[in-house]
Amino acid sequence: METLVVDHPLVAHKLTVLRDAKTDSPTFRRLADELVTLLAYEATRHVRVSEVTVETPVAPAKGVHLAHPHPLVVPILRAGLGMLDGMTRLLPTAEVGFLGMIRNESTLQAETYATRLPDDLSGRQVYVVDPMLATGGTLVAAIEFLFERGADDVTAICLLAAPEGVASMDAAFAGTGKPIRLVTAGLDERLNEHGYIVPGLGDAGDRLYGVV
Ligand code: URA
Repeated sequence: METLVVDHPLVAHKLTVLRDAKTDSPTFRRLADELVTLLAYEATRHVRVSEVTVETPVAPAKGVHLAHPHPLVVPILRAGLGMLDGMTRLLPTAEVGFLGMIRNESTLQAETYATRLPDDLSGRQVYVVDPMLATGGTLVAAIEFLFERGADDVTAICLLAAPEGVASMDAAFAGTGKPIRLVTAGLDERLNEHGYIVPGLGDAGDRLYGVV
């Protein structure tokens, strides 16, 4: 798996404010949205395009359009929803599928509770968004699901990642031969005994939407 930790002062600044426990939900949501747009810029570096020629007012010009089928953005519910607008701002013609996964807090295993995705993802580039790559259980299960439906190119975009999550993604997909990328704003130290990223930013879903 190719892992990119985006190294940019604006990304670092926004991430620092997100981490701050004093940052309220409205500010957290706005900054997460801005941060995703910056990450999406890097994450779409390999988005497929096809060559076209347009007529400028002066002369024909060769350029590119996004290739068909258009990319699919898949937020992992619920926290991934906080990253959706940032993605579609940069990829307005992308389609959006939904995958509801929840981490069982005692087993730390991912469980699927909702899916709304095309049945056939053959030939699709898929961008999965989930703020926190912790144990990796949720993201690995989500990406396996997408591969089962035929996706052949998956990029995961996370605000923060733990080394344990990166290792579990590496282990799960080593040797599959499928292109998988991870783009994140930060790679933190470790997980704590509750499966939280340290220093992290806490529970991303709660910080985006409050405790329910
Ligand atoms: N999920 C979160 O929201 N935060 C963590 O630190 C780990 C998993």
